[in-house]
Amino acid sequence: MLPIDAEPIANGALLIDEQGRISAVGPDEAVPTPENALVQHFDDSVILPGLINTHTHLELTGFAGMANDPDFWEWIKQIIALKATRDDEAFFNAASAGIRSCWAAGVTTVCDMGNTGSVIAALDALGASGIAHHEAFDMHTEETAVVMKRFSRELDRLAKHATGRVGIGVSPHAPYTVSGSLYRAVSELGRAHGVPIGVHVAEPADESALLRDFTGVFADALRKRGVTHVSAVPTSPIAWLDQHGVLGSRTLCVHAIHTDDADTAIMVQRGVAVAHCPRSNRRHHHADAPVGRYVDAGLRIGLGTDSEVSVAPLDLLAEAREARMLTGWSAADTVRALTLGGAEALGLESATGSLTTGKWADVAVVRTGETKAPADAVLASGNGDVIATWLGGRRVH
Ligand SMILES: [Zn+2]
Repeated sequence: MLPIDAEPIANGALLIDEQGRISAVGPDEAVPTPENALVQHFDDSVILPGLINTHTHLELTGFAGMANDPDFWEWIKQIIALKATRDDEAFFNAASAGIRSCWAAGVTTVCDMGNTGSVIAALDALGASGIAHHEAFDMHTEETAVVMKRFSRELDRLAKHATGRVGIGVSPHAPYTVSGSLYRAVSELGRAHGVPIGVHVAEPADESALLRDFTGVFADALRKRGVTHVSAVPTSPIAWLDQHGVLGSRTLCVHAIHTDDADTAIMVQRGVAVAHCPRSNRRHHHADAPVGRYVDAGLRIGLGTDSEVSVAPLDLLAEAREARMLTGWSAADTVRALTLGGAEALGLESATGSLTTGKWADVAVVRTGETKAPADAVLASGNGDVIATWLGGRRVH
């Protein structure tokens, strides 16, 4: 057993109470077995906290392999065209299937971004655990008030799903789809509602070019739509977001590839967390994120898969192996990032992320064979090795 916040336990056991919380953890002989308890044994396996996927787009479930353009902007346009083929019910079914396949891979909490509202509805309907960030887009400064009116109405409509372990957040999408004034307005709305902010930032190189000197594919595309500049002075994506009040301790920066030391200093000062998606970053030829620098700076870092349109199937253990190579993390550090680190990045560490008395019984069991090095064995595993998952004490896989 890997409790994460304590040393590994050989022949470990845990007791789940009727509320779905962990009431005891320890060596088997030290954990009580109440008379009415259902007892389950897992041989040759590692028991660990449910994994936390800090970046998904589960409304895109089912589109794997259907958008393949090597150019990032063309790829985004392919996704927009694919989404136009689905109605509300299809999105809800896709999101539900996505959540179930996360459970089957040992993932008990997700942090999602999308604009259909289907993921928060599905999280609510399935009694799942996660944060769904609702996306806002618009590059025309003069339209901000109109866009915000609509966005705020959508947020109010979706808020009814934010019950139990489901949270709502806001996501001004990216610097090439969101104007400075919309960034500010969405962030202010998020703070007024007390909800987290999730952003794609410093992902493609052309995003940096757009803000530096209005060059690159995004600048070309925007020029055609009547936008003639974004930033009046050369700036970086991180600094641009900071100028518009986006960055704070409840802001999750996804990707954050093209950043320098000055950007990192801003991220530290604002206390942001990072969702690191190493395989997606490579898939789109964006380059690797400077995640070692983020580790050294003490930023909270969770791991994410991004959508299955980027890399399929979603495989958080594979992301962890890549992250380990980029950071030099030990196996224990890497498993921590998959669990408690992800919970900390999302501000959920008091509820989940470790096998700790009082926390939700979010638990994954990975069949590893007999091993003396449980963290290494988990990292060498694949989705198919996850043989059981509990969410809040409920068996979901
Ligand atoms: Zn994404």
